[in-house]
Amino acid sequence: MEVLSTPASAQETKGINPVIVAVPKEQTPGEQRVATVPEVVSKLTKSGLVVRIEHDAGTGAYYPDALYTAAGAKIVSGRAELFNGATIVLCVQPPTVADVDMLAEGTIVIGFMNPTRNPEAIARMRDRKITAFALEFVPRITRAQSMDALSSQATAGGYVAAVLGADNCPKFLPMLTTAAGTIRPATVLILGAGVAGLVAIATAKRLGALVEAYDVRRAAGEQVRSLGAKFLELEINAEGQGGYARELTPEEKAQEQQMVSAAVARADIVITTAAIPGRKAPVLVTKETVATMRPGAVIIDMAAESGGNCELTQVGKTIREHGVMIIGPQNLPARVPFHSSQMYAKNLQSFLALLITKDGTLVTEFTDEILTASLLVHAGKVVHKPTSDLLNGGKP
Ligand code: NAD
Repeated sequence: MEVLSTPASAQETKGINPVIVAVPKEQTPGEQRVATVPEVVSKLTKSGLVVRIEHDAGTGAYYPDALYTAAGAKIVSGRAELFNGATIVLCVQPPTVADVDMLAEGTIVIGFMNPTRNPEAIARMRDRKITAFALEFVPRITRAQSMDALSSQATAGGYVAAVLGADNCPKFLPMLTTAAGTIRPATVLILGAGVAGLVAIATAKRLGALVEAYDVRRAAGEQVRSLGAKFLELEINAEGQGGYARELTPEEKAQEQQMVSAAVARADIVITTAAIPGRKAPVLVTKETVATMRPGAVIIDMAAESGGNCELTQVGKTIREHGVMIIGPQNLPARVPFHSSQMYAKNLQSFLALLITKDGTLVTEFTDEILTASLLVHAGKVVHKPTSDLLNGGKP
C-alpha cells in the first residue's frame, strides 16, 4: 500500500523532534472501534503532533483512511512501520505481547489495559520498559470527566442493551391505542443504575416502556426517578468508597433477592448491569427466578463478561430457558462503533492534553494526579499495586 506523505509538523520545521502518535487497527475479534477519529486527529495535528494511523484502522467504525488523511494523519501499512519511532500508541483493547515486542523502550501506550485478564502483556511491557496508562484507572473526579472512558463506553453499552432488548422482545414497548385494540406498554426492569443502567433506562423510556430500576446505592434512586422510571426501594444502603457499591451481608442479600425476583417475574425485558469493580458480578437473577418469568421475556446480561448477573448466562451466547431468552453479550460498545469510537477518541484527546505541553513536547514527569492514578507500568516496574500483586506477589 502506498504510504501517503503529510506536510512537516510545526515541531519538525523548528527542528524539534515531534511527538509521534500511532493508532493501530484493533485485532480483538469483534472489535469494531478505533482509538481516534478524524475530528480528533485534526486537533492533534494542529497542535503539532504527528499522527500515524494503520491502514483500515477506522474502517470497522466507518471512518475510512481518506478522512484521516484529510485530517492530517499519515496512513501506514503494517505494525512495523506504524510503531517505528512512535512516542505514543493509542489503543482500545490492551496491546498483545506480539505488539509490545515491536515497541521501543520508553514508548507510551494508552488504552484499556484490563490487567486481570491481561497479565502476560503487562509483564512484557514491564520487561521492555514500556510506559502504560490504563484508562480504567482514571479517577472519577470532576476534572477527569472528559477522560472517563469507562463512562463513555458504558453509555454506548447501556444504549445498545436497551435496543437489543426491544429487538428481541415479542411485544411493542409503547402503549398503543389503535383500531385493532389497545396495546399495554411493556415493562422493562434495569438492575444496576450506574452509567450504563441510567442510559438503558432513558432509552427504554424513550421507546415508551414502563421502566423499573433497582440499585444497591440509594443515591441512584433520585437519578432513576428523574428519568421517569420507578425506583425499587430496599431498606439498605450499600454505597461503598468512591461512589461504588460495597458487598452486601447475607441477610441483605436475601431481602434484595426477594424484591428483585418479584420485579423480574413481572418484566418483559430485564437488563442487568450490576458490577463490583475487580470482583465477580453478583448473581441477581437465579435459575429459579428465570422459571417464574413470562414466556417471551428477554434478559440482557451486561455483566456477562464478569461472571453474569443471571445464573444461567453464558458469555457470548444467547440461550432459551423456560421460554425466556437470556443474552450474554460481549463488547456492547463495539456495536455502535461510530459513536463509541468518537467518544473514546475525545476521552483520549483530553488525556493527551495532560501529557503534551503547549509547545507540543512530552511532559518530563507524570505528576498530575490523573496521570499518577492511571499509570500502570513505567520504567521497568508495574506501578499499580493491585496489578503488581497479581503479577508477582507484590514485588515491583
Ligand atoms: P459499575 O459499572 O461499577 O456498576 C454498575 C451499577 O451496579 C452501580 O450503580 C452499582 O451500584 C450497581 N450494583 C452493584 N451491585 C449491585 C447489586 N447487588 N444490585 C443492584 N445494583 C448493584 O458502576 P458505574 O456505572 O461505573 O458507576 C458507579 C458509580 O460511579 C455511580 O455512582 C456513578 O454515578 C459514579 N460515577 C461518577 C463519575 C464522576 O464523578 N466523574 C463518573 C462515572 C460514574
